[in-house]
Amino acid sequence: MILSVGRDKYRPPPSLRKLVRWRADRCMAPGCGMPASRCEIDHQIAWEHGGQTSLQNLTPLCKGHHIVKHHGGWIVRQIEGSGGAIEWISPTGRRYVVEPERRVPVFRTQAQGDAPF
Ligand SMILES: [Zn+2]
Repeated sequence: MILSVGRDKYRPPPSLRKLVRWRADRCMAPGCGMPASRCEIDHQIAWEHGGQTSLQNLTPLCKGHHIVKHHGGWIVRQIEGSGGAIEWISPTGRRYVVEPERRVPVFRTQAQGDAPF
């Protein structure tokens, strides 16, 4: 299963798009119920700012929330290690966390410093 194509491609391959939509099942904006099948796939860290085309940087947003995210003064990020939860911070500083419908485990290679011995 492809979890990332890194910086090779802007557009996620079909299997990755499917996984992003399966995980969230709907638009990942607070309180929005738009089905993921009708959403756009957002790069949390914009491609033009070095964002990767990977599961950790992609989430479905409906067209309206995609526009809000880019132009509405919100801070939106995927919470690292959460399996896909999205944090939204409003222009006035209110914080919302949107949990995905299904969590996808996060795989990491163990860093050398974490070795038990
Ligand atoms: Zn939405």
